[in-house]
Amino acid sequence: MAEIVLDGITKRYPDGALAVRHVDLTIADGEFVILVGPSGCGKSTTLNMIAGLEDITEGTLRIAGEVVNDRAPKDRDIAMVFQSYALYPHMSVRDNMGFALRLAKVDKATIAAKVEEAARVLDLTRHLDRKPAHLSGGQRQRVAMGRAIVRDPKVFLMDEPLSNLDAKLRVQMRTQIAALQRRLGTTTVYVTHDQVEAMTLGDRVVVMRSGVVQQVGSPQQLYDE
Ligand code: ADP
Ligand code: ADP
Repeated sequence: MAEIVLDGITKRYPDGALAVRHVDLTIADGEFVILVGPSGCGKSTTLNMIAGLEDITEGTLRIAGEVVNDRAPKDRDIAMVFQSYALYPHMSVRDNMGFALRLAKVDKATIAAKVEEAARVLDLTRHLDRKPAHLSGGQRQRVAMGRAIVRDPKVFLMDEPLSNLDAKLRVQMRTQIAALQRRLGTTTVYVTHDQVEAMTLGDRVVVMRSGVVQQVGSPQQLYDE
């Protein structure tokens, strides 16, 4: 069970910038929520606070019922996927995907099994022994997703994961991400500035503007407004 509850979440950066203002939002277990809005509206800051990469100035953040405001990212049971894939160039796809599990001292047989399962789901099996430089953009993006899913996290956080891809691949990957999320049922928060992506990808869309939540609804509800 990994409900995420933001209760009066506010972020003031040290320079005084008020990036997020009193956001209240409950994300249900297994839900796929899209945070959308123009550049600078506070999407990444909100996601980074959920991830533990930015301190919360005010408010309470709960994941799976527990207050996690002061918990380190590694103790929040989340996995994050960024637009820059940050793959290790000298490692094979297999080793990139298993890296976090090796750090966590998971045994080799379990790592191999989890990496192979993730590769199957992401259609990367035939690329497992390649280096990232020999992959297409879409394949690299799938390796980055694979690195996240092998950890079986309670929560996925994605920050513009498709924005480095060309338009055709972006559409293809959208479908794949939506299918993957449905299959795994992992609570997911996905940040994008792309309205089409927001309206086609998730269960619910949260529209932010100037640090506040302006609208929340299913894509259909927002479309009808
Ligand atoms: P978005 O992800 O929607 O583009 P951000 O969350 O990155 O928006 O930024 C929200 C606001 O906070 C912007 O006004 C931005 O300039 C400001 N901001 C972001 N990061 C910092 C920082 N490290 N220090 C000061 N202000 C920041
Ligand atoms: P997929 O093979 O999963 O459908 P793509 O459509 O992205 O993925 O890639 C098409 C083919 O081109 C793949 O077989 C891939 O291995 C190959 N390919 C793409 N970019 C490169 C590259 N930089 N070096 C070698 N092969 C590449």
